[in-house]
Amino acid sequence: MIGISGQTNVLSSRFGRGAADGLGKDLGSFVVATMEVPWGLVKERLGADPTQVLMVENMQLETIERQLESVGEVDTVLGVGGGQAIDLAKYIAWKRQLPLVTLPTVLSVDAFVTPAAGIRRGHRVDYVGESSPNPLVIDYDVLRTAPPELNIAGVGDLLSIHTACFDWELAHMAGASEYPFSQRDVDAARQILSAVMSQAVAIRECTDEGLQAIVDGYMRVNTICLPAGHYRVEEGSEHYLFYELEERLQRPFIHGWIVGLGVHLLSRLQGNQHEEAVAFMEEVGLPHQPSDLEIRKEDLRASLLALNDYIRSRSDLWYTVLNEREINQAWVDDALGTLSF
Ligand SMILES: [Zn+2]
Repeated sequence: MIGISGQTNVLSSRFGRGAADGLGKDLGSFVVATMEVPWGLVKERLGADPTQVLMVENMQLETIERQLESVGEVDTVLGVGGGQAIDLAKYIAWKRQLPLVTLPTVLSVDAFVTPAAGIRRGHRVDYVGESSPNPLVIDYDVLRTAPPELNIAGVGDLLSIHTACFDWELAHMAGASEYPFSQRDVDAARQILSAVMSQAVAIRECTDEGLQAIVDGYMRVNTICLPAGHYRVEEGSEHYLFYELEERLQRPFIHGWIVGLGVHLLSRLQGNQHEEAVAFMEEVGLPHQPSDLEIRKEDLRASLLALNDYIRSRSDLWYTVLNEREINQAWVDDALGTLSF
């Protein structure tokens, strides 16, 4: 956090090895939102017991509202775990107007720094509310209890800057940008990505510096995206492939991994430093192959061939390379030939 100025959405920070130790003593009475595995990892470290523990059941709004009803009088909401546990904590803190403390146990998604909570209404994810961690607790020892490839997954939503900024530039050149184009924001986002890329070995090994590089990357992205009011610099066509695949296959994916697959394919379609992006994913150890994601060749082929029509059918998606380059059979054959199934 030192050296990051601007709107990070992190009100205070407690970073370091052992940062979670004794944390519970500073929270007054508190409710924890978590899941079984992460809770088992940290409860002994906190030094004080919560008045209530809420386990994530699912992220459907009805379920979360029911859990919210059960929360008694407390001083603080503590979120412990990955994206869903943190999102449940954010939702409760927002609804009850209580201080939020977040202790991520894995860096696979950026929920621990974003203001809104991701919840489900039916099949679609919706982002609601506003909350900021005070403090955000990053304990490198706790994070290292997670499988390394899940922490490394955290670079997916930073690497997406590579394709998303290119998409925004295309939109601007086509006179089709949904937001006022900002070269300054694009340049700043690319600087964040190059800082992350320069830490590839540390991230691969999940050293203190490597884990911190991911956290810093997310907070820096906030300093661009929160004032702008949109995430155009880090979300584009690479995410749209994921949306299509998720609707097609009706199952969840590890977010950073599938975004990595999107960066692989869409940087190729963009003609945008494809080899460099792939080389970085190899170096940092980000799983992104269809074989890692258990996606069959025929499903990916069908998804890619449907992708141009899919984005045209969704008026909520931004203008990207998919609006101006048609994916055809020959392109798909070439692209699939570079992947492993
Ligand atoms: Zn994402």
